Amino acid sequence: MLRVDGLSAWYGAAQALRDVALEVRGGEVVTIVGRNGAGKTTLLRCLMGLHKQQRGTVELAGTDVARLPAHKRARLGMGWVPDDRGTYSSLSVAEHLALPPRAAGAAGWSLDRLYETFPMLAERRAVAGTQLSGGEQQILAIARALRSGARLLLCDEPTEGLAPVVVERIGAALREVKQQGGTVLLIEQNVRFASTVADRHYLLAQGRVVESLDNAQVRSRERELLTHLGI
Ligand code: ATP
Repeated sequence: MLRVDGLSAWYGAAQALRDVALEVRGGEVVTIVGRNGAGKTTLLRCLMGLHKQQRGTVELAGTDVARLPAHKRARLGMGWVPDDRGTYSSLSVAEHLALPPRAAGAAGWSLDRLYETFPMLAERRAVAGTQLSGGEQQILAIARALRSGARLLLCDEPTEGLAPVVVERIGAALREVKQQGGTVLLIEQNVRFASTVADRHYLLAQGRVVESLDNAQVRSRERELLTHLGI
């Protein structure tokens, strides 16, 4: 679904990503883990086309998207789930989800399917987006990307700042997306949580992918990884 090679990025003269290579297969959930400043957000923004100073290969389902602006990447099936959730006070939950699917050739999840998968959204459909809790807004942002017809969700640390019980709800939502065939690349600092939702993990340090890990490796090296991540 996603193949990245030789991806580098800069802020002015300062290099934030160095020759990043990774891939995400269809139906996989993959995390990017790394300590603060490692380059995780920059990486996700590069993939979505939101960061201009970048060089390298980014392919979505075999299509080279590296030089396309964000809205064209969205049309091709990239779904952006921002860290601030991007919810609006002037729109209800139902209105957030009312836009028709936008990705080319994709049906997008129907409203019925979204409400069935995330019953909380059905219960709260008349409530303004910003009246939802942080965790609920996160699930709304995921649902909105699925509604758009996204084939690949790019989630910028969906659990950041949330209480453990809420983190678990996000985990359940992501597992549900995977179970229904969705593909997700997400930033995650909490490696213990990451190993419960994802199939594989890339460890980013100083702008480089330094390791690719499976869940067994994450579990057996949890203490070392937590120390590395500064947690
Ligand atoms: P965090 O977990 O703290 O969000 P991160 O792993 O997402 O960190 P990035 O935010 O991608 O890391 O930052 C990578 C590097 O780029 C850091 O050295 C950071 O200081 C630098 N950087 C990020 N944003 C900017 C900016 N707008 N201008 C200049 N440098 C930046």
